[in-house]
Amino acid sequence: MLQPVLHTHLMQTHSRLPLRITRGEGAYLYDEDQRPYLDFASGVAVTALGHCHPALVEAAQEQLHTLWHCGNGVVNPLQESLAERLASLTFADQVFFCSSGLEAVEAAIKLVRKYHYDRGAPERTDIITLERGFHGRSMACISAGGNAIAREGFGPLLEGFETVSPNDLSALKAAITPKTAAILLEPVQAEGGVHLLDIDYLKAVRELATQHGILLCFDEVQCGYGRTAQLFRYQQIDVVPDLLTCAKGIGSGFPLAALLATAEIASAFTPGTHGSTYGGNPLAMRIGHAVLDVMLAEGFFKRVEAVSAYALEQLRWLQQTYPHYITDIRGAGLLIGVELNGPTGIAGRIVQEAAHQGLLITRAAGGRVLRLVPPLIITRKEVDEALAILTTVLKEL
Ligand SMILES: *Cc1c(COP(=O)(O)O)cnc(C)c1O
Repeated sequence: MLQPVLHTHLMQTHSRLPLRITRGEGAYLYDEDQRPYLDFASGVAVTALGHCHPALVEAAQEQLHTLWHCGNGVVNPLQESLAERLASLTFADQVFFCSSGLEAVEAAIKLVRKYHYDRGAPERTDIITLERGFHGRSMACISAGGNAIAREGFGPLLEGFETVSPNDLSALKAAITPKTAAILLEPVQAEGGVHLLDIDYLKAVRELATQHGILLCFDEVQCGYGRTAQLFRYQQIDVVPDLLTCAKGIGSGFPLAALLATAEIASAFTPGTHGSTYGGNPLAMRIGHAVLDVMLAEGFFKRVEAVSAYALEQLRWLQQTYPHYITDIRGAGLLIGVELNGPTGIAGRIVQEAAHQGLLITRAAGGRVLRLVPPLIITRKEVDEALAILTTVLKEL
């Protein structure tokens, strides 16, 4: 059994597997001894195009010799053009670039408040979020969601957040007050256990928000950017938000994130009201372009969909073989949850044992759900390899 690493000068914010990873290629990571690990964790759904994708390496290398950072006090053409691309691909008109998911969510929280303030409704400050939601780990983001452990000991939390139960429209209706500014939710609750919110519920939330002049913000930091086999989940379910946050897959491993919004809402940000030092620097933008180039190539999402269907089918077969351990398989695209039955700690044990046998997967926060988020470029053969390891692990439990 692999034991967690204890002796280190790093703050113990993460429980780490004792694998000393030094290299990556495609769907594999390699440790110091060149032992391969099939990476179905993707550094928490980040390396969407796998490790060291040649197109990204080439773009980054070229940009490394050209320009890394010029600040946001000048026009950065790569930033203009990536924003233009994202606007043309989505409901949005304007984009704010930053470097991590929580920064995008922070920007969204600030923007919805400022929007109502500018429109003469300064009382509209409150944001309704959902239980099991996860939006990052800043003070605002843990106030907006996250599990009890993420909040415990960090009080006082920020005011103005109300959490209701997911897929429960009457709970949401009851939470709306004249102070409500926005509803913030993940259309697929990833960290909370890979729960796909009901499409009918999301459509009703959209209507409700419009009726009450409340802004709807989708946090697609994890479920967006190709993860569900389309660029964004909202496009797949045809429920259009007013704001959208994305990160993780957008840089496929390079720190990059974005807040997207309509022009009307985005106009609430003016010089001095918000900003980021690193956000949208030319290196990040160049990689952001390269990621889009790969994802938008003919047939990319179709292949993700096909390999996803195959993986889900194989996992359901595994569930039939081990119904006492696996109680549910759910997912969209390559964001897949495997719900387990058994003693507490079973998910952690499976994650450790799988790593021991050369497969990296993650556990959703708190519960008994394994999360499979392989790079979007995986093949059926790699799915077979992962399934073979999982089967061995379950057999030996
Ligand atoms: C990971 C995640 C975040 C936070 O992103 P960071 O880059 O870790 O700050 C926010 N929202 C969702 C839905 C996430 O999955």
